[in-house]
Amino acid sequence: MDNIRIYPDPILRKKAQPIENIDGRVKDVAGRMAAVMYANKGIGLAAPQIGILSRILIVDIGEGCNVLINPEIVGGEGESVMEEGCLSLPTIEVSVKRMEKVFIRGRNLEGKDVNLELFGFPGRVYQHEIDHLNGILIIHHISRLKRELLIKRMVKDLKHSQKKGSIL
Ligand SMILES: [Zn+2]
Repeated sequence: MDNIRIYPDPILRKKAQPIENIDGRVKDVAGRMAAVMYANKGIGLAAPQIGILSRILIVDIGEGCNVLINPEIVGGEGESVMEEGCLSLPTIEVSVKRMEKVFIRGRNLEGKDVNLELFGFPGRVYQHEIDHLNGILIIHHISRLKRELLIKRMVKDLKHSQKKGSIL
């Protein structure tokens, strides 16, 4: 199984490239992403998190695995603030302001157009994953000072848990 890329892995800061053909390779990547997401009990994952700079995201918020290719936010309104975590930033939780209602367009694995109109939490998950495709993590929604503090603490926590032999 692929490893999850953990901050400060530089690939997490890169912009992912659009998919031109939805072929076997794309299906293979989506399958690998799903394996990693479920193994880590995540609810969403973007391809850069397994080291692949392609615009593919997956989300499962309890309704099965949705794969979205070349997702684009085409509109939205309102705002809400909620604590978010990220598989690439173990132990960190950050309050992130996002659009309350969001319209997203993309394609599914069959190449069909998908148009989503999402409210609240589901919309938040998709916005989080689309951020990943643009090299943006939850820690880039907060001040530099707070970010540096959280990263320092995460590094310390990770070292500590490795000593204890946990698998974080
Ligand atoms: Zn994330």
